[in-house]
Order: sequence, then C-alpha cells, then structure tokens
Amino acid sequence: MRYLVLSDIHANLEALQAVLADTPPASVDRVLVLGDLVGYGPDPNAVSECIRALPQVSVIRGNHDKVACGLEPPFRFNHLARHAVEWTAAALTADNRTYLRSLPMGPLAVDDLIEICHGTPFNEDVYVVDYREAGRALERATRPLCLFGHTHVVAAFRLQDGVAQHAGGRTMGPAELALTGESAWLVNCGSVGQPRDGDWRAAFGVVDTDTRVVSLKRVPYAVAETQAKMRAAGLPEPLAERLSAGH
Ligand code: ZN
Repeated sequence: MRYLVLSDIHANLEALQAVLADTPPASVDRVLVLGDLVGYGPDPNAVSECIRALPQVSVIRGNHDKVACGLEPPFRFNHLARHAVEWTAAALTADNRTYLRSLPMGPLAVDDLIEICHGTPFNEDVYVVDYREAGRALERATRPLCLFGHTHVVAAFRLQDGVAQHAGGRTMGPAELALTGESAWLVNCGSVGQPRDGDWRAAFGVVDTDTRVVSLKRVPYAVAETQAKMRAAGLPEPLAERLSAGH
C-alpha cells in the first residue's frame, strides 16, 4: 500500500494544490490527513472541501480544527493564532464547521503498520520536540510506524534499547527513510501549509508499506499568492511573513 501523508495544511490552498499536483491522490491507495486542516491561512472552506472530496482518505482533527469549529475555546493559543482562529470560525460555512466537528481525535490505526495522531498518541495537543516526548509517544504507539504532526518540523525517532533516538529529519530537501529493524518509529513528514524548519516549501510524505520506505518530500508553491490573500483578508501580517521564511 502507498499512502500520501498530509499534516498541518492550515487553510493554505496553494500549498495543498502543489502537493496534490506532485503526488495525485489517484497515484496512491489512500490519503492520510493528520489534522489542522484550517487555522492561520486564508482558505479554510476550499481546503476543507478539497479534503472532503478525496475518495480514499483518513482524517483526524488537530488543535486548530477543534477550536475553529467551536469544540474548545482558544485558551492555549497566542494572540496571533487566536486572531486567525476567530477569523476562521467566522469564515467557515455551516457545512464545513459540521465536517470539522465530526473529525475523530487521534490516534487512529490505519492498518497493521501505521497509526496517525496530531501531537502524540497520548495527547493531541502535546508537541514532540525532543527524545523525551518522543519516548513517551513511542511507549503509547500501537503500531510499528506512528505518524504525527503539530510541530510543523520534519523529524524521525526510533526506539533503540528502549530509548528514543533521533533517526533523521530537519531535512532541507527530499529524503528517504528506510524503516529498518524491528524497532518502533515515530515520523513527522512536516507541514503542508506552514513549514517551520527553515524551508518554505510545502512538506509532506509518501509511505510505501511494501518497501517500508517513507519518502519525505518538498514542493514549491505560489507562496506570494497565499500571502496576498491573507493580507486582503486582514489576517495578521506576521502569519503571512512567516510563510516565505519557513519558520
Ligand atoms: Zn498546526
């Protein structure tokens, strides 16, 4: 099976379209979406509708999705994120709000090899930024490959002798990760719509369960167009600027 892995699209339609042009959904068996379809970006409805229209897709919610659709107040958000999520809540159609409310919380087992979560398998809001949280996440994982998002940074960890180790990531370019050995893996393929690892290009992944290879991919997109839409919508300027800086 081949899976296209998308996380943290954040209402960035141009980035999503560039990813789907590079790796069309028809070229894989299923698309996996790891949450944060909306928030920050200018196209929450178009992005929601694009994901809803995919024929073979597994989707879980992210922290921005649950706040934008009214399931939780934005008490963990900084003022920029709060401004954007309030704008998003007002912009969402009733249909798309209902769709976001229906999304399950991770973790979600996809098959015998893979599960997906937004932050970690034990808490969707926790950020895996180092080996400590990675170890806690790997302890709770129920599949050999746990795919996560939320940090917007490409990263890979594996358990060796019971301890989580960095196994790659923070890549500035494409890379292939071979899931060797019997150990459990924790992999973040990066953010489609708001990368924060110094590379502005849309980040995503393709997992091949036959070869046990995760391809970590980057594609350029029309970032100036997204930024112009954000400015026209009155979204905070720092959120537009960060897109071209990739942080
Ligand atoms: Zn996010």
